[in-house]
Amino acid sequence: MANTKYVFVTGGVSSSLGKGIIAASLAKLLQARGYRVTIQKLDPYINVDPGTLNPYEHGECYVTDDGAETDLDLGHYERFLNTPTSQANNVTTGRIYQSVIEKERRGEFLGKTVQVVPHITNEIKERIQLLGKSGAYDIVITEIGGTVGDIESLPYIEAVRQLKWELGDTNALVIHLTLIPYLSAAGELKTKPTQHSVKTLMESGIKADILVCRTEHELSDDLRRKLALFCNVKKAAVIQSIDASTIYDVPNLMLEEGLDTVVLNQLVLRDDDQPNLDKWNDFLQRHKNPKCEVTIGLIGKYVELQDSYKSILEAFIHAGAEKEVKVRVESIHSEFIDDATIAKKIAHLDGLLVAPGFGERGIEGKIKAVQYARENKIPFFGICLGMQMAVIEYARNVLGLKDACSIEVDEAATNPVISLMEEQKNITEMGGTMRLGAWNCELVPGSKVHAAYGETAISERHRHRYEYNNAYREQLEKAGLQTTGTNPKTGLVEIIELKDHPWFVGVQYHPEYKSTVANPHPLFVAFVSASVTYAQAKKNAKVS
Ligand code: GLN
Repeated sequence: MANTKYVFVTGGVSSSLGKGIIAASLAKLLQARGYRVTIQKLDPYINVDPGTLNPYEHGECYVTDDGAETDLDLGHYERFLNTPTSQANNVTTGRIYQSVIEKERRGEFLGKTVQVVPHITNEIKERIQLLGKSGAYDIVITEIGGTVGDIESLPYIEAVRQLKWELGDTNALVIHLTLIPYLSAAGELKTKPTQHSVKTLMESGIKADILVCRTEHELSDDLRRKLALFCNVKKAAVIQSIDASTIYDVPNLMLEEGLDTVVLNQLVLRDDDQPNLDKWNDFLQRHKNPKCEVTIGLIGKYVELQDSYKSILEAFIHAGAEKEVKVRVESIHSEFIDDATIAKKIAHLDGLLVAPGFGERGIEGKIKAVQYARENKIPFFGICLGMQMAVIEYARNVLGLKDACSIEVDEAATNPVISLMEEQKNITEMGGTMRLGAWNCELVPGSKVHAAYGETAISERHRHRYEYNNAYREQLEKAGLQTTGTNPKTGLVEIIELKDHPWFVGVQYHPEYKSTVANPHPLFVAFVSASVTYAQAKKNAKVS
C-alpha cells in the first residue's frame, strides 16, 4: 500500500473508559482482515517513561523487547495482536520535551524561539509518523492518553488537528471514546456529557468522525440518532461499547457494531472479506468453557491494585484457556504473611506465584511463602523478585546461611546471595538504568523449563537491577538448587529449579510480558498444568 493511514483515539467525559482495549480491538479486526496494523500510545505526563512510577500511580510498567519501559496498554496491544511493540509505540510529554530541549541545546532551531506550537507539536507529529514511515504498517492507531479538555493534552490534540488537515479525511480519522451514563433515578441514558466533550474537541478544531460510546445499557435507535445529530457524525458511526464480561469479547462486539467497516469506509480501504477470527474465537470458547478449576495465590505487595500485575493476570487467562482450566487468582498481601497466618492464607492453594517487586516491604512474607510451597510441595513459580526470594529462602533454610539476603534490602549483607552486577555498581540514576529488554537464555536439557519451552535457546524480557550471585552458585547447586537457565554471554543465572518437587521454578525475567492470546506463555501453561495435577491429587487423597 502506498501510504499509511492514521486512526486517532481520544477520550472524553471520564478516564478509565478503556481506550486501550478499543484501540486493540479495532486493530485486531483490521489485522484479521489482512491489514498490517500497529498501535501507539501518547501519554501526556512529564515522566520520560513510566519506569520510575510506583505501580499505585499508573499500574504495571510493561517492557518491550528493545528494553523500553512503557504504559501497560502496550501489553494489551501485544496480547491482542501477537506482534511486538517497541519504544516508538509509547511516547510521553517528558520524552517529547527532552528531545526538543536537546535539539535546542545543539542549536538545531537556528536562533528561533522554541515554542509549544510549532516545535512541540512538530515533535509529536514526527513521533506519530515514525511508525507509519517505517513502511511496516498499513494503518497506525494512535491512542491519546488522558481526557479531552485536560491542559496537558492540548499539544497532542493540536498535533492531531494539524495532521488530519495535512493528511486529509481519507487518510486520517478520529475516534472519540465517550461515556453514556445511566441515571437510575430517571431510568435513562444521558447523552449530554458526550455532546459537551465532542464540543470541547471541536473547540480545538477537531471533528470526531466516530463515537464509541461506553454504556451499561443498550443504546436505542432514537438515542443513536440523537447522538449522531448533535455530535455531527453519521449514524453508522455511533458505536455502542457495552460492558463486557471479558476484554477479549470486545473485538467481536466491535465487529457486530461495524466499527471496522466504518473505519475502512472512511479511509477508502477495502472491506470486502470478513475478518478471520477463528483462532481468537477458539480461544474464547476455551476460556469460557473450562473443564476444571484451580486456585493460585498471587503473593505481592501491590495487590490492592489489579493493574499492578496486569500481564501476570492476563497470562493466567491465556494459559487457563490453553488447558481449559478456570484459574482463580487469589491476591495475597505479602506484608501480612507471618508464622501465625501462613497456613490459613496458603494451605488451600493449588499453586503459588511470588510476584515481581521492588524494595524491602513485604519481603519476609514472600520468603515465608516460598518456604511453605517448597516444603509442602505446592507448585511454585517465582518471577524476578519472586525468583530472588526463592534463592534467599534456599540459602537460609537449606544451605544454612541464616543471614542470606539481597543487597537491595541490606547493602552490607554478609551473605549477599542476590547482589549487583559490576556494571550496575556505579549507577546513581534511577530511570532506564536496570537490566532491561530481551536477553538470550540457554536452558539445561531435561529440565522442567526445557520440557515447557520445548527448546533450549530462548529470549525473554528483563526489568531488574539485582542478580543471582554466582559466588554462591556451586554451594547452592550442591545443596539441590538447580540452575537450569543461564545467559550464554554473561553467565548470569536466569532460572532456578528444584528436582524433588512437582514444579518449583524461579525466573529472573518476566515471562508474563510475552504471553499473548495466540501464544500463551509455555511457563504459565506448565505452571497451570502442575497446579491442576496437584489439585487433582489433593482431591483424590481426600476421597480415599
Ligand atoms: N527489585 C528486584 C531487582 O531490581 C526485582 C525487580 C523485579 O521484580 N522486577 O532486581
